[in-house]
Amino acid sequence: MNLHNGRLYWPETYTGIAQYPELEENISCDVLIVGGGMAGALCAHVLSQEKELDVVIIDRRQPGSGSSSANTGLLQFSSDKMLHELMEQKGEQDAVYFYQLCQNAMKDLHKIASELAEDPEFRSQNSLYFASSNEDVSKLVLEYEALRKHEFPVEYLEASDISSRFPFSKPAALVTSGDAEVNPYKFVQILLKEATTSGVRIYGQTPLIHKNKTVHGFTCESEKGTIEARYIIFATGYENDFLAAQLGADLNRSYAIVTEPLPSLKTWYNEWMIWETKRPYLYMRTTEDGRIVAGGLDEDKAKAPLNEGLIEERGERILQKIIEHFPALSPKLSHAWCATFGESHDGLPYIGEHPIRLGEYYCLGFGGNGTVYSMLGATIIKDLITKNSHPASRLFSMER
Ligand SMILES: Cc1cc2nc3c(=O)[nH]c(=O)nc-3n(C[C@H](O)[C@H](O)[C@H](O)COP(=O)(O)OP(=O)(O)OC[C@H]3O[C@@H](n4cnc5c(N)ncnc54)[C@H](O)[C@@H]3O)c2cc1C
Repeated sequence: MNLHNGRLYWPETYTGIAQYPELEENISCDVLIVGGGMAGALCAHVLSQEKELDVVIIDRRQPGSGSSSANTGLLQFSSDKMLHELMEQKGEQDAVYFYQLCQNAMKDLHKIASELAEDPEFRSQNSLYFASSNEDVSKLVLEYEALRKHEFPVEYLEASDISSRFPFSKPAALVTSGDAEVNPYKFVQILLKEATTSGVRIYGQTPLIHKNKTVHGFTCESEKGTIEARYIIFATGYENDFLAAQLGADLNRSYAIVTEPLPSLKTWYNEWMIWETKRPYLYMRTTEDGRIVAGGLDEDKAKAPLNEGLIEERGERILQKIIEHFPALSPKLSHAWCATFGESHDGLPYIGEHPIRLGEYYCLGFGGNGTVYSMLGATIIKDLITKNSHPASRLFSMER
């Protein structure tokens, strides 16, 4: 399955990629991570801090070239499901706990990014979440009250506060802080490179094609080699439509674009990241070299179209949306792509140990906050492997 089609932007921004060899021998390790995207790279980073664990990553592609290279790099503690909606769905305690976990994952991402030897273009940033219509203002009021009650960093903006900062009018908005933006491709590549210096072995072009449970763990077969592992972590993203269906997740597709660099972004207040209450939503951010990254127009189909003309046309539609908000900027389309995108029905990721196949873990960050969920998954799975428990794992169970 092609996880994305069209012209991706991020892989053109980073030339320091390490090439990972294909596995051509039989090896053993403590933890085998299947998938070297954002989820696998963060799991490897966190597990490699545990000196006694010998970690291997395999990826059927070159690591980092799956969905993580199509990601637009907005990192937010708020989920696509608003806190007050989750409170109705899961109960107040669990919903708040989930938002706190995402906030902690954001802090972990900040810390990890600041400690890397190379800069993954990680910038702290606020998010503007605007009401797309007058009808949605009541939702934002409920959300503001829920976030304030539980001490999440949020401000409420009236229409006049928005129009004094931006060249567009919206009836209301929330501003959250503690968020960030990143070059997701660079982030993954740097994480992987640093993992190898901590002893993690990484193999590209190495699909997992079969696994058997053994007394001590698993025997995992690839095309030219076998891996004996005590534990397996599946960080396989949106690749497996059979698994997605079993879990009860939807695979859709979404479009994203990057513009040519603009001479000035002065009309974009503090370059806050922007998204909205409508579903599917439009979202936008800027880059250090003055480009705009934006996405949306989700479609109810899993496979990204091969038709370049269609991707270009959707890209132009997203560009028009940017122009509607920032008419003076006159942005020009530079890159446009379409990618498969997975969402669970309740908006939460799938993280934890398989209920029957013990020793087999899943780090599947299904949802708009896939990076934040991957971070959360990495810390939870590390605790499940090293301490045999994590208080949050029940929330993300594959059986829910
Ligand atoms: C258009 C778009 C925009 C997005 N924007 C954002 C955003 O702004 N912020 C955010 O947080 N998230 C965003 N996401 C979500 C985010 O991209 C994903 O959640 C995240 O990148 C998934 O990382 P991953 O490691 O799970 O998947 P991937 O990066 O796809 O990595 C999984 C890897 O597993 C490998 N694999 C699969 N099966 C096997 C096998 N059998 N054997 C070996 N290897 C295998 C694949 O080759 C792949 O490299 C966006 C997604 C899309 C599509």
